[in-house]
Amino acid sequence: MTTVKDVSGQMYVNGQWVDAKSGKTFTVQNPATGEAVATVADGGAEDARLAITRASEAFKSWSRLAPVERSRVLEKAFKLMTDRRDELANLITLENGKPIEEAKKEVGFAVGYLDWFAGEARRVYGEMIPSHVANRRLWMIRQPVGVVAAITPWNFPATMITRKIAPALAAGCTVVLKPAEQTPLTALGIAKVFHEVGLPPGVLNVVTTLYPEEMGREFLVNRHVRKIAFTGSTEVGKLLMRAAADQLKRVSFELGGNAPFIVFDDADFDATVDAAVAIKYLRVAGQSCICANRVYVQEGIADRFTKAFVEKVKAIKVGTGFEPGVVVGPLINKDTLEKVDRLVQAAVKQGAKATAGGGPLKDGAFAKGNFYAPTVLQNVTEEMAVTREEIFGPVAPVLTFRTEQEVIERANNTTYGLASYLFTKDMGRVFRVAEALEYGLVGVNDAGGYTHETPFGGFKESGIGREGGKEGIEEYMEVKSVVVNLPK
Ligand code: NAP
Repeated sequence: MTTVKDVSGQMYVNGQWVDAKSGKTFTVQNPATGEAVATVADGGAEDARLAITRASEAFKSWSRLAPVERSRVLEKAFKLMTDRRDELANLITLENGKPIEEAKKEVGFAVGYLDWFAGEARRVYGEMIPSHVANRRLWMIRQPVGVVAAITPWNFPATMITRKIAPALAAGCTVVLKPAEQTPLTALGIAKVFHEVGLPPGVLNVVTTLYPEEMGREFLVNRHVRKIAFTGSTEVGKLLMRAAADQLKRVSFELGGNAPFIVFDDADFDATVDAAVAIKYLRVAGQSCICANRVYVQEGIADRFTKAFVEKVKAIKVGTGFEPGVVVGPLINKDTLEKVDRLVQAAVKQGAKATAGGGPLKDGAFAKGNFYAPTVLQNVTEEMAVTREEIFGPVAPVLTFRTEQEVIERANNTTYGLASYLFTKDMGRVFRVAEALEYGLVGVNDAGGYTHETPFGGFKESGIGREGGKEGIEEYMEVKSVVVNLPK
């Protein structure tokens, strides 16, 4: 079982459930109700150091196991986590606020990384390289990087973790994971799964804290840590990259986005309206890095499209995550709510019009949570902050365009480069536009996002490295060349 009680109070270090050295704890709150859900250990540098030391010791044996043995552990974890889907989803809804059905889908997707990398563990090939000298042999092998410090955000409390730890463990690395302070329970629930399937002590450690800078500093200065795997904001990613330079630690970063959603006149109308609603509002209330941030509609269908879109948005049911029929939950905290509203009000001041929503929801059942009305903004321009910044909330600015070339330039005119979407039936255009968009992911007539089989990551300031696909495991490997002179 994985109830709140099962994962409250302590961290997971070296195969044991332990208090923070300081004895401190912090409270996890439900963003829909403001209620305290649990208390969790509030670790610091000393706790991180101990976890890193244990991970470093565990690396010696874990990295030397036959890949198939690591694969078997991941397979077992896949099975147990799948069995616990509903329990883990319950934790997600309590601490993150997303609707329970969405949370179940998330766990269902998160376990897929365990499955995928259980397979990839056995396919880390080396190479024999033809030598230019007769009695010399050259070969290349891939070896695990070492101890990985993983830092994850709150918006996908399960997926952001399995997308990192599955390839890391498959490669033979050991991990110290610091989950987001808003969503430590899911992380501890995942640690419990690995504990129960017999992962050796020290291979996966989960340290929780309310002070990420202090733990982050230990990750960065501790020489046992060879790699920082981070998902979060571009701002924090840059801080970590600067600091990681001191020891040239390996880094992989999955950062923010500003996704264009491009609708051409010839798109399948109804399916495209539904896709726009799904990718803007139905992923954690718009708090996903791949959510549509700017909706571009070609002039010929702009009025019709926007009307249908607004109607659907007005029908979206907002509420607490356990209420039947709710598809949009709260924002994660007051700061996010205020930021989203600031962007909307600034746009309105500059001439935008909110044709759906337009402000926080405060009455009745919404009073104690961080709810924002699903919002559509029209008369938007690219000078407005709402199109330049990552909104991270249920707000869709709608813009119009005339030509393919024009929309490509406008879509690419951002420092971000994570996800993008285009909707058209013209196959020539599919290739032209998909190739021209400067984004790590292009959804063509698709708003489902990435899958386990595809490498996912950002261009420009949206990240470095890839997660998922066969590339995902390479991020946790070093390449070694061996040069052998055969005895005469
Ligand atoms: P964030 O503030 O950057 O936090 C992410 C994680 O970093 C949290 O665990 C946080 O801890 C930790 N952290 C913050 N400051 C730190 C520091 N100085 N040293 C070490 N760790 C530190 O981001 P967020 O607001 O939680 O997440 C939203 C952002 O993540 C958005 O920009 C979104 O686009 C991005 N994101 C990207 C992807 C992707 O795949 N590209 C996926 C999901 C989210 P605390 O929780 O304790 O603050």
